Amino acid sequence: MRGIVPALFVSAPPHPGTPPLPDKLYAIIEVLMTEYETVIGLEVHAQLRTSSKMYCACPADYQDSEPNTRVCPVCLGLPGSLPVINREAIRSIIMIGLALHCSIPSHSKFDRKNYPYPDLMKGYQISQYDLPLCVDGYMDVNVEGERRRVGIERVHMEEDVAKLSHLTDPATGEGYSLVDVNRSGVPLVEMVSRPDIRSAEEARQYLMAYQSILRYLGVSTANMDEGSFRCDANVSIRPKGSETFGTKVEVKNMNSFRSVFRAIEHEVERQAKVLGSGGRVVQETRGWLEDKGVTTSLRSKEEANDYRYFPEPDLPPLNVDPAWVAEISELLPELPEERRLRFTTEHGLPAYDASLLTATPGLADYYEATLRHAREGGSADGVAKAAANWTLTELGRLANETHTEIHESPVTPERLAELLVILENGTLGTPQGKRAIEEMFHTGKSAQAVVADLGLVQISDTDELAGTVAQAIDSNPQAVADYLAGKETAAKFLVGQVMKATRGNANPSVVADIIVEQLDAMKG
Ligand code: ADP
Ligand code: ZN
Ligand code: MG
Repeated sequence: MRGIVPALFVSAPPHPGTPPLPDKLYAIIEVLMTEYETVIGLEVHAQLRTSSKMYCACPADYQDSEPNTRVCPVCLGLPGSLPVINREAIRSIIMIGLALHCSIPSHSKFDRKNYPYPDLMKGYQISQYDLPLCVDGYMDVNVEGERRRVGIERVHMEEDVAKLSHLTDPATGEGYSLVDVNRSGVPLVEMVSRPDIRSAEEARQYLMAYQSILRYLGVSTANMDEGSFRCDANVSIRPKGSETFGTKVEVKNMNSFRSVFRAIEHEVERQAKVLGSGGRVVQETRGWLEDKGVTTSLRSKEEANDYRYFPEPDLPPLNVDPAWVAEISELLPELPEERRLRFTTEHGLPAYDASLLTATPGLADYYEATLRHAREGGSADGVAKAAANWTLTELGRLANETHTEIHESPVTPERLAELLVILENGTLGTPQGKRAIEEMFHTGKSAQAVVADLGLVQISDTDELAGTVAQAIDSNPQAVADYLAGKETAAKFLVGQVMKATRGNANPSVVADIIVEQLDAMKG
């Protein structure tokens, strides 16, 4: 092994007398050369968008409320208060379980998870331990063109905790913390995957696919940056071909898809280095430090919490009626995967466009509404692809620049459809279309109005264009010579010159025809 390392490591042959590399470096190179497989299991928490909290009548919508105004004896954890199960939350979790192909056992129960921390009013969280609401499902994920199936171990109910803010007193420099109980008892759903994920990119795709399902079901806003969607990543590595798993590390505190990706990549590299230098991976919980781009130890297995789970004495076990599950199943909306497939078959879109357009129900609805209006306006079949292009490219760019959503754009489906019909009729070309949509986006005006305001027209009239073409031919003798010498691409250059001279308003295919006609006439 060592014999081949320097050859890989230094591209030029070492000078005679080059000192050998230090042993530590050999060890690191050796580990980088050993092929490892990454094993990841994700635990994802999402807040449910129910109107009230999980066990009391307080509003669950806490985001814009004054601190500690959405509280009652139950979510404050006062002795003597009793929880009541929120039926809507259970219904939402069953919907999620069904969408993830889980079984819904008819018998489920709640358990207390005990730990002392100031964010926990009661000193325990009501969760589910051995009898979760949903078990044994899967989710299919697309990774770099390949479909992978990730097993889902369980989906269970939990409740959120109070929000702590850690501050510093400017006068004394001392730290203190504030507690806001509004979030206590907001329904949470926890979904636990099997250790089936094999790369950071697959983890990212898995999270996006789950986020999309939650949004289609309408059960969660599933926003990582506002905290309604959170993920802990369990990461281990093992030599390729090995049957047994390596020791796992749980990584926490990522607040974007990008940081999940980065944290996993970093953690895999760290573990490979530990193994490579002859060490062992310690089972522990690590925190992701966004600014530094590293994970750092939070607590080891020995210091791990012992939650002393026991059955929740204040709640009865939950019997889930299979008839109710069947009823919920009947009412499930079309899910992202089905809709993506339908977009490829019914609208003839490429898989890539279909998956972008169906990422959120809002965007998919926007697209389909645009198609409907365009067809009403007399558009032909090709409008499906044109609508996808304009939506994803031009509107996508404008929405990005303004940090808004495409489907909430001032260019409503009706207005985009109107523009598509105009483009299809050929009175506007692509460059004018781009100017029109930009103006529509910023002013909220209709396509017709913008076309009139900006005086946008596509010049397709041969007589009108002939003069400009002749001028382009006169001023570019080299291109003309090239063309006459058989270099046909020189005509494209001349088309470009005419487009420039007409500020993009000429119809490029008409221009190309006239150019070829005039040049061919010169040959004779
Ligand atoms: P714990 O007892 O620590 O809660 P679990 O076995 O319940 O561990 O698994 C928790 C999560 O860790 C699951 O998502 C599971 O898929 C994942 N996991 C388990 N073992 C490994 C491993 N060796 N490597 C990566 N992830 C793992
Ligand atoms: Zn309450
Ligand atoms: Mg576990």
